[in-house]
Amino acid sequence: MEVVQTINAMQAYARALQQRGTQVAFVPTMGGLHEGHCSLIRLAKENADHVIASVFVNPTQFGPGEDLERYPRNLERDCELCGEAGADAVFAPSVADMYADGHTVYVVEETVGNILEGAFRPGHFRGVLTVVAKLFLAVQPQVAVFGRKDAQQLWLIQKMVRDLNFPIQIVAGPTVREADGLALSSRNAYLSSEHRRQATCLYRALQRAEDLFVAGERTAAILRTAMQELVSEEPDADMDYIEIVDMDRFSPIATIKDAALAVMAVRVGDTRLIDNWELSTGANKT
Ligand code: AMP
Repeated sequence: MEVVQTINAMQAYARALQQRGTQVAFVPTMGGLHEGHCSLIRLAKENADHVIASVFVNPTQFGPGEDLERYPRNLERDCELCGEAGADAVFAPSVADMYADGHTVYVVEETVGNILEGAFRPGHFRGVLTVVAKLFLAVQPQVAVFGRKDAQQLWLIQKMVRDLNFPIQIVAGPTVREADGLALSSRNAYLSSEHRRQATCLYRALQRAEDLFVAGERTAAILRTAMQELVSEEPDADMDYIEIVDMDRFSPIATIKDAALAVMAVRVGDTRLIDNWELSTGANKT
């Protein structure tokens, strides 16, 4: 498996694939690879002949005081896992190459980019959309695969691709979870064993909402309160937000019509975790 380390080399590699008519599927990651990332690489392989994953801890999507410095970094292990999952190449650029001195152009979404995750992490989605646009221009894939785990990010990337006319099909992969429901995340590595136990409150809260929804409850405030109660039972869990959003517009709603997304962010000790669950009568529930 090839490791490509500069934007120039990546663009040359992409051109060579295009000349051969090879379809490329792309899986961007920040490393700290786990089974969630690997499942996206396997899904990418089902969608194209050639799979390129990226490993880049993007500084512009971290706010001051966030975990940029302690974010897990192990390129060798990440490349091994990418290869085992079926990636043909890994793009691992340096920060200096991605953000040359004097970089001042960013991609900003002006509505959904400012609520929920965007409100608690100002500038986060500006960093995400900018780096994803730059990665798209380096890798030039026909397909890009993202996880439903980061639902607001997925929505914003789909919006960016539509609004800026990137000729890229976005494919969404289901959230991979531990046996007790905790969504896999590179940040789970920060949790002490006691906080790891308390962290299941996110999944338990989402399941509480699911149970109420299945029993016929459609009032968002009632679902939110039930979820909040569950989170507040854990001594070290502090909620940033719990919201019920419309899936098309990603905006909070008071009453669920057919389907909605329950989204939440909770700090367990000093580890911030997010998760979501689709409330619908359909089958696609991860
Ligand atoms: P990250 O490395 O956290 O930036 O994530 C890279 C990609 O993996 C994003 O598209 C995430 O949504 C996705 N991802 C992260 N965790 C999971 C998971 N547990 N299941 C599926 N996809 C995930």
